[in-house]
Amino acid sequence: MSLNPRLVKESFSAIQPVMGKAVAYFYGRLFAESPHLRGMFPPAMDVQRDRLFGALTRIVWSLDSPDSLGSYLGQLGRDHRKYGVVAEHYTAVGNALLATIKRFAGDTWTAEIEAAWVAAYTAAANMMIDASETDAGVAPAWWLAEVIDHEMRAPDIAVITLRPSAPMDFTAGQYVNVQTARWPRVWRTFSIANAPRPDNTIRLHVRAVGGGWVSTALVSHTRIGDTVLLGPPVGTMVPPEDDQMRDIICVAGGTGLAPIKAIVEHVIASGRRPNIHLLFGARTATELYDLDDLIRMEAAFPWLRVLPVVSDQPAYDGMRGLLPEVVQRFHSWADHEVYVCGPPAMVNETVRRLQDDGVPPSRIHRDTVQSTP
Ligand SMILES: Cc1cc2nc3c(=O)[nH]c(=O)nc-3n(C[C@H](O)[C@H](O)[C@H](O)COP(=O)(O)OP(=O)(O)OC[C@H]3O[C@@H](n4cnc5c(N)ncnc54)[C@H](O)[C@@H]3O)c2cc1C
Repeated sequence: MSLNPRLVKESFSAIQPVMGKAVAYFYGRLFAESPHLRGMFPPAMDVQRDRLFGALTRIVWSLDSPDSLGSYLGQLGRDHRKYGVVAEHYTAVGNALLATIKRFAGDTWTAEIEAAWVAAYTAAANMMIDASETDAGVAPAWWLAEVIDHEMRAPDIAVITLRPSAPMDFTAGQYVNVQTARWPRVWRTFSIANAPRPDNTIRLHVRAVGGGWVSTALVSHTRIGDTVLLGPPVGTMVPPEDDQMRDIICVAGGTGLAPIKAIVEHVIASGRRPNIHLLFGARTATELYDLDDLIRMEAAFPWLRVLPVVSDQPAYDGMRGLLPEVVQRFHSWADHEVYVCGPPAMVNETVRRLQDDGVPPSRIHRDTVQSTP
């Protein structure tokens, strides 16, 4: 069985326009053939569908990049442990996936394309199974975590401190999946807002979105003493291992501040003293929910410069504008290491402008806070 990324990509492109239908068919088929798997999924499948589509797209387009594919699949395999996924489940998913692609590819389907998909899926599933089995020897599938602090910082934003029941290894910039008692089996991702701490606690910055299941549960219906479940830390917006003495610019929109703050704490803990510019943007001053804390950090570490930016409040007595534009008002950032996190449009536009400014892609680390990973 040999990998043929070209055939997989071409056939995948052909079904992309009908992906919504294909994903619905996939789950229908999976649950019809393996009804016992339904209980592993949440009652409402909308976010799950988006996640499957996002993950499949990323895997297919990374088939030519074994390193990034391997690290992504390793994280997925470890993360799937929290659902109770075991090796045999990958066979059921693979059968339903193949049947789905075949059905939606229609007349273009050939034995050669089928062999390419079987080879690609088998390789991907094996990587996830291996990562999961290795992880099972060293870390729990999920962590129970107690809420030890819950602070409302804006009408819809809470900063929540959790104490996991067992040590959790993570790297600054990563995120975790969170499940609340209010919504069993419904997991949402939240960035860890601190670098690893000796007391093993982690902080989340959560904004309640209108009608949102988990964010509203965390902001409005969670109290000190409650417990939540955490999946393993995942995410690739982490400081590079060959961390140089380069200066840093961080651009954070809304709760996109969470992983950025973790990275700043990581740099502080490393003992390095690069100049850091941290642009923290929100629509109104009230939404600059962590500014007091950032100003305290700035006072303690003079090489850290915090720049609050407000976009929708004409009377705001400070820097005003949209983050991507404000970033460009300064000198060139071409020599800097860059971290950007926030809503997708803000992240994409900031990255585009910084690349135009000459920052090489390898030095831009980015993530988004949005509903679908
Ligand atoms: C990598 C990553 C990191 C994240 N980190 C954080 C974080 O640190 N803090 C944080 O508050 N959120 C973060 N998010 C977003 C978070 O995972 C949830 O998507 C969000 O909290 C909504 O979940 P919910 O269950 O409350 O809403 P859902 O029940 O999933 O959605 C309810 C409704 O709200 C809409 N919606 C979903 N997400 C958003 C959104 N972000 N803005 C506006 N409308 C939305 C949906 O389309 C839907 O109509 C992150 C997302 C990703 C992918």
